Parts: sequence; C-alpha cells; structure tokens
Amino acid sequence: MPIRQLPSHLINQIAAGEVVERPASVVKELLENALDAGSTRIEIDIEQGGSKRIRIRDNGSGIPCEELALALSRHATSKIASLDDLEQVRSLGFRGEALPSIASVSRLVLSSRHQTAENGWSLFGDGQDAFGSPEPSAHAIGTSVDVADLFFNTPARRKFLKTEKTEFGHIEDTVRRIALSRFDVSFELNHNQKNTLRLRAADDRSGAERRIAEICGSAFVEQSLYLDYEAAGLRLWGWVGLPTFSRSQADLQYFYVNSRHVRDRLISHAVKQAYQDVMYHGRHPAFVLFLELNPQLVDANAHPTKQEVRFREGRLVHDFLFRTLHQALADIRPGDEVDAPV
Ligand code: ADP
Ligand code: MG
Repeated sequence: MPIRQLPSHLINQIAAGEVVERPASVVKELLENALDAGSTRIEIDIEQGGSKRIRIRDNGSGIPCEELALALSRHATSKIASLDDLEQVRSLGFRGEALPSIASVSRLVLSSRHQTAENGWSLFGDGQDAFGSPEPSAHAIGTSVDVADLFFNTPARRKFLKTEKTEFGHIEDTVRRIALSRFDVSFELNHNQKNTLRLRAADDRSGAERRIAEICGSAFVEQSLYLDYEAAGLRLWGWVGLPTFSRSQADLQYFYVNSRHVRDRLISHAVKQAYQDVMYHGRHPAFVLFLELNPQLVDANAHPTKQEVRFREGRLVHDFLFRTLHQALADIRPGDEVDAPV
C-alpha cells in the first residue's frame, strides 16, 4: 500500500483507542471538562452502564456558539496556547483530544450556553466528521454533553464492554475519585433514572468529612488523622488512616497532585515506607491525600489519560511525603483515642 494521510475521522477513532477505553473513561473526561469550566454543580445521568447513554450537565462557563464545532475538533483547546502555558498548566485538560475522540465513537450532542450568551445552542454528531451547524436549544448557563451508543461504529471495541453492572461500577469509582478531589462542587449520579449518589458541595472540613464518609465509609473518617503541612513550596494535606484502620487491599487510597488523581510509584513507595513500622506486613493503609506544588515541578503530560505524572524533583517529593507522613504517624501514641481527626 502507498503511504497516505489518514482521514481525520479515523485519526480520532485511533486516538479514542487511547483515551476512551470504556464508558467510565468518557465520564472521567467529561467531568474534568466540567471542572475546568469552573462548574459548582454537576449532574451525571447514565443508562445501561453507559453503553446506551452518558449525559453530563454542568453549570460552568459554557461554550460560545461559534466555538462549539472547534470544541469537537482535534487539538483544539482553550486551556493552553504555548509551551510556556503547558509547563504551568493548572487545568485538568489541555490536549484537546477528549471531545473529538468521544465524538468519533458515539452519537454525541454538545449543548451549551456561554455565560455571556442570551440562549443556548446544540451541535449534533453521528460519529462522522461533519457536525452540521448549531441549532438553538433551551439551556441554562453551562454545558451538557450527551453521549449515546458508545462504540456503535467500532464493533470490536463494543464487544469488549462488560456487563452493565461492571461498567457502572467503574463509572461509580470514577465519580467518587473525582468527587473527592473537589469538595466545593456538588455531584449527582443517576443510573437508569435512579439516584445512586448525591454529594452536596462542602466549604469546610466537616463538610469534606461528610463526603469522605459517604465515599470511604465513616469508620475511615473516625479512625483517621487530619494533617496539613507545608515546607519548601510543597504542601501535603488530607486524611491518613490510623495504623489500626488497615485494609487487606489497597482499595482506600486516594492521592491527588494539584487536584488531579494520580497513581504513581514514587508516591506509593513513600507512603508505604512511612507506614512500614506501624502496620503489619501485608496490610494496606487508607488515605485521602492532596499534594500541592508549583505546576512547573510536575509534568502531567506523561500519558494520554494523565493518570501518571512525572516529578521534576522526584527525590525531594519522595522525601517530603515520607517525612511528613512518618512524623504524623509517629506522633500518635499507642492507646491514643482518636475518634475525631485532630
Ligand atoms: P481539553 O480539555 O484538553 O481542552 P477537550 O476535547 O476535552 O480538550 O475539550 C475541548 C475544549 O472544549 C476545551 O478546551 C473547552 O474549551 C471546551 N469544553 C469542553 N467541555 C466543556 C465544558 N463542560 N464547559 C466549557 N467548555 C468546555
Ligand atoms: Mg478535556
């Protein structure tokens, strides 16, 4: 075969292979967009584990009518404009890939009313390249993305979808993970018209703890320690489970770097080491922790889904985490009754 340029529709579908693994990945991308738009209220409606429909509605800044088509085109983003911006990016998105990828493997309707607009507009996609022109639609300020029939035009991917229950389980995990990253935003999750999660926005620690109890169980909140420590431009805050609250699995471990949920070996290692002396071998600690640092010290562009990060000064971050957690755990004396975080 001669070399030829692939049509953009196919390019998007190939990119979708990386970004859109299953319905939960669509939910993740759409929630991140809603948060980047400054939303304070997000509603998620799922039908049939997401394979029939995923609809996310937010009250963020909205998208101007004339930018709706751009939002669905590849490498188009409002979040960065230069390498400089990329290096200090604070938003969750910046690659301009999610919406075009999702649109290439679903029937997508993007509806939005920009905060300065008189009314809303919708753009309809059918998994092809052309979207037609926007049509007026009744919409409050904010954005809705309605993703129907995911993978309808990529049968090989559709075949890999698991049962409705399994896929919805992944969606729930995703929503919980993101809801823990922003206590100030309210989230509502419905499956097949039934509410499964309702989290009110919280503006103080007890509100945050109510949310954590909802997601991680009240036993975790009762048997955890709240910490907030800052040194050399690094801040670590959040809740760490007491050694007495250990788990047989690493299933209650939430770590965020500048509000982005990450899984990172360096972080896991530092946490594990900090607990080493106080936890039985084979048990796992529970925590909800937030690391904040200058975005220039962390590269979120290491992976298309940005679940992995690279630290510019890995050693420094590792030592900071280890020392802060180790100290916090050492300060608890055996027999201490900790029924409320101190
Ligand atoms: P990225 O998030 O990397 O910029 P996306 O493909 O996810 O790329 O989105 C493309 C653009 O569409 C965003 O940069 C943003 O300007 C706009 N957009 C997407 N979702 C929303 C939303 N919920 N509210 C406001 N603008 C949005
Ligand atoms: Mg995005």
